[in-house]
Amino acid sequence: MMSDGPGPHVRMFDYLQQYEALREEVLAAVERVLSSGQLILGPEVAQFEESFTRFLGADGGCVGVNSGTDAISIALRTLGVGLRDEVVTVANTAVPTVSAIRETGATPVFCDVDPGTCLMNLNELEDRITARTKAIVPVHLFGNVVDIPRILEIVGSRHITVLEDCAQAHGARLHGRMAGTMGTVGAFSFYPTKNLGAYGDGGLCFSRDADVVERMRSIRMYGFEDGYYSEREGVNSRLDEVQAAILGIKLVHLEVWVRNRQRLASRYDERLAPGIERVEPAEGVQHAYHLYVVKVDDRDTVRRSLEEAGIATSIHYPHPIHRMRGYGFLDCRQGDLPQTEALAERILSLPMYPELPEESVDRVCEALNSAVG
Ligand SMILES: *Cc1c(COP(=O)(O)O)cnc(C)c1O
Repeated sequence: MMSDGPGPHVRMFDYLQQYEALREEVLAAVERVLSSGQLILGPEVAQFEESFTRFLGADGGCVGVNSGTDAISIALRTLGVGLRDEVVTVANTAVPTVSAIRETGATPVFCDVDPGTCLMNLNELEDRITARTKAIVPVHLFGNVVDIPRILEIVGSRHITVLEDCAQAHGARLHGRMAGTMGTVGAFSFYPTKNLGAYGDGGLCFSRDADVVERMRSIRMYGFEDGYYSEREGVNSRLDEVQAAILGIKLVHLEVWVRNRQRLASRYDERLAPGIERVEPAEGVQHAYHLYVVKVDDRDTVRRSLEEAGIATSIHYPHPIHRMRGYGFLDCRQGDLPQTEALAERILSLPMYPELPEESVDRVCEALNSAVG
């Protein structure tokens, strides 16, 4: 438990205020679905898939699935990734990026990251590509956006597909283009803390390629096209009608919520002492600020003094994936990814959600400025 500091506690994330504002609409939608007689893959999912496609502003289609992890693994399966293939990604991501790659049987290969943006270092990407590389999974970490067009240039005419992990980047843009619309597939998560969160698990795949969309649609339900007949090997991973109806209500507000995140981030930018290092938005990016992350030395002490001031902080993520026991079989060593490893010691996530009061941001800044000052 946190000790009592001055004023109410500042949380990392809190969905209750948003629920308060949407309660009647949400409960009415739940009632509508439950009394409709159709709970799985009915009109709500189809409508949400259409609305999300419109939100992305690109020609293509969406497939609602059970989680962000499944969105990645279903997309990889669809793109033909399997045993003996290699998939290049980063090690400073959430574990699901890598567990999804493993679900296909493929081997993740880690590219180091840029110390300023924390995104995949594209200067090193070519060196990670081998004859076995089948896909690249760049992660739009924290709501920042990887330069996908540059990855496509590096890949050139080789048969390597690019899948964007957009779990933290709903509403982020690069030179005006939405994250998730530049690669072959964009994979989104609707885990409750994400920029668009369900009241439970959910995920979605977007592609501009109609053929890819149809195959993903088939794979999310046992490889069926019509009837009980598997055209290909599939899984069971469906977004359910109740979550789709709720997500449809919330999607209407997503742009405003992302703008609120951006406004709060500017306030952090202005009020944090100039000496405090922040994760930098990449060139040409409209950052969606899923998280606002700074870099500090002596992080445990800094966290403790913020905690004493009643301010929650978090670390996304404290252990690079190649250093976890569960991934020891990948045989990566300490020192293999120097920037990733160095960042893991210093990154610190500050409270960030669209309803976070500006006064709370000011309190966080004051406490952090004095903790590092
Ligand atoms: C949350 C997250 C995922 C996985 O999403 P789930 O819906 O929790 O399965 C994948 N990648 C990143 C970067 C994430 O933050």
